[in-house]
Amino acid sequence: MGEPIIVAGGGIGGLTTALTLHEIGVPVRVFESSMAIRPLGVGINLQPNAVRELTDLGLAGRLPDIGVEAEEWALVGRNGNDVWAEPRGRRAGYRWPQFAVHRGELQMLLLDTVRERCGSNSVIEAHRLRSYEQTAHSVTATFEDRGTGRTVTVEGPLLVAADGLHSAARRQRFPDEVPPLWGGAVLWRGTALGRPIRTGASFTLVGNLEQRFVHYPIGPVDPSTGLQRQNFIAELTFDPAEGWDAASWNQTVDPEVFLPAFADWDFDWLDIPALVGRAEQVWEYPMVDRDPAPTWVDSRVALLGDAAHVMYPVGSNGASQAIVDARVLGASLVEHGLTPDALAAYQDRLHEDISALVLRNREAGPVAILGKVDERCGGVFDDIDDVIPRAEVEAFMARYKAAAGFAVETLNAAPRTLPEGATLTPRS
Ligand SMILES: Cc1cc2nc3c(=O)[nH]c(=O)nc-3n(C[C@H](O)[C@H](O)[C@H](O)COP(=O)(O)OP(=O)(O)OC[C@H]3O[C@@H](n4cnc5c(N)ncnc54)[C@H](O)[C@@H]3O)c2cc1C
Repeated sequence: MGEPIIVAGGGIGGLTTALTLHEIGVPVRVFESSMAIRPLGVGINLQPNAVRELTDLGLAGRLPDIGVEAEEWALVGRNGNDVWAEPRGRRAGYRWPQFAVHRGELQMLLLDTVRERCGSNSVIEAHRLRSYEQTAHSVTATFEDRGTGRTVTVEGPLLVAADGLHSAARRQRFPDEVPPLWGGAVLWRGTALGRPIRTGASFTLVGNLEQRFVHYPIGPVDPSTGLQRQNFIAELTFDPAEGWDAASWNQTVDPEVFLPAFADWDFDWLDIPALVGRAEQVWEYPMVDRDPAPTWVDSRVALLGDAAHVMYPVGSNGASQAIVDARVLGASLVEHGLTPDALAAYQDRLHEDISALVLRNREAGPVAILGKVDERCGGVFDDIDDVIPRAEVEAFMARYKAAAGFAVETLNAAPRTLPEGATLTPRS
């Protein structure tokens, strides 16, 4: 069926795109800039809308190998009392579970599956997208082969740029765009072994808008030790005018840079300094996003995942949205063929809502409720019902889930993004 679609970036979005293209009968080749894809990162959440898509891709059975089915999401005040707790995934009535997984292991699962289904040479590492050019009928992408230093050009019907936060395609499309925006928060992420807390599969956020600690398990309990692998994120807010080094997911630091601020965060159910002390490594990452891009599409080129809409991770939906993007793109190709119209249809389905979500997450997304609690009682309370009515929080949380595409009734009732057995009728 002609030249493969070119995908730049072998992260969660790029690899899910490759699997989706294979499902609809379209050849694909993925070019990844790192010399070799390795299981980098720590925990991420897969919301039920993304698990649904992975289920349709035949991968649901593999998720328990790389994570934990999430059961609860809880916000806890600085004094250790619950602000809000709600069931998650199937316990909340979704037809699909929510999973908390190790990002790198998810990436390796997707990579192995792409190589199995699309061929062992379908993912080409050490190739960094530099630029693209297009005619009415095709696009030519230029890559730097990082192994030889040579320039490589590849022609295809479409280019999907899933090349992440520092997307080269986005830079070409919007040469005047400023670097990623830092609003003042810094995240320190890591994993450590710990005893299960609450349900044993709970996401817990303790603190307020300026200082908080997120904790959730991403591994099963080892019956011999009673311990499970737990993901944590410590977060502090600084004056954005101070500036911070460019965002990178690969920067490790000594936990002493932030741990003193959490020295007395020892609750009877979670001893934060002790947990962080057990982490082998801690990664520092300034929380950044970008203003919504005016468009994700340039004729035969589409941005996807973080390249299109990097957002603050406050709603745990960056990876989920990259997966959903790939599936919506696949459905648009089935409808319109390998044409600019297909990319325009992909953008029409997602751009407005997801751009609004980027801005909503900048305002702390679902965690913004902690700001209301602080306003009303300085964050200190015995009984949260005296501070904020339950119905108000419930309505606030429901609005977030609707905006992020995982409102329970809507998702349960929605037809498959890609109808079963759908394949592309060739057109170009
Ligand atoms: C190393 C790493 C670690 C991460 N760790 C976490 C984490 O612990 N928790 C979390 O919530 N999120 C993490 N993220 C971000 C998270 O994976 C994304 O927000 C989300 O999954 C969206 O996926 P994406 O595919 O759009 O982007 P990404 O997952 O960022 O993938 C983009 C891919 O494109 C590649 N790439 C970049 N530039 C080029 C180029 N010019 N040409 C070709 N390829 C290119 C990158 O190497 C990467 O493999 C991490 C991202 C990376 C790259």
